[in-house]
Amino acid sequence: MPVPYRLWGDEARKRFIQNYNVYCLSHTLLLPGREKSCACGREQITSNYFTFSFSLKNAPSEETELFHSGPSCGRKICSLLNITPPLMVELFKREGSGSHTHETSNKPGNDAGEQMLPINKEFFIATNLLFAFLDDFQNTLLQKYVDGICKYPRHAIFPYKIELLNKEISQHDAITRHGTLRQAIAELIRGANRTPREYDFPNLENALKEAGHELFI
Ligand SMILES: [Zn+2]
Repeated sequence: MPVPYRLWGDEARKRFIQNYNVYCLSHTLLLPGREKSCACGREQITSNYFTFSFSLKNAPSEETELFHSGPSCGRKICSLLNITPPLMVELFKREGSGSHTHETSNKPGNDAGEQMLPINKEFFIATNLLFAFLDDFQNTLLQKYVDGICKYPRHAIFPYKIELLNKEISQHDAITRHGTLRQAIAELIRGANRTPREYDFPNLENALKEAGHELFI
């Protein structure tokens, strides 16, 4: 189900938020070779974008769907939802960004990630990488966990949630034939002659090792 009407203009966005439960799931960059349109119906997404989930309020089923918004539209929706736009997960080193790139850019609104415990931030980034790689992939539980981290950034995520993320990744051959999720994304980005960002997830790795799992993140 795509959004039922174009989310263009404040009136349409407000009406939508009144009728649907809307959550912001991620803020990331378009991977090479991917195409997405903004839910406003007026722009093609070219660089960074937000992904939201939505479900009809008071509906019998909890079925959720996704839509994407370009940077300006996405920020307006976040503002109507009264939330800080989530940390943007970088996928590749941007042209001219030099050697002093950090995990987060210094743009306004990216301070959300700074409040997170390191393990939560790792989980947030890893889940966002999965969402970015699998394109319109949905896993309601993982979405709920990400939402929980955004709401309670200082409550350490439970190990079983990390195990679920790792297990989910392990079930996608498009990823595991490259090894890990990070390796799969890096290959895609290198294939487009870009330089992938490198992420370390020491806390997630420890949690998985302790539980005796092979690492797919
Ligand atoms: Zn738009």
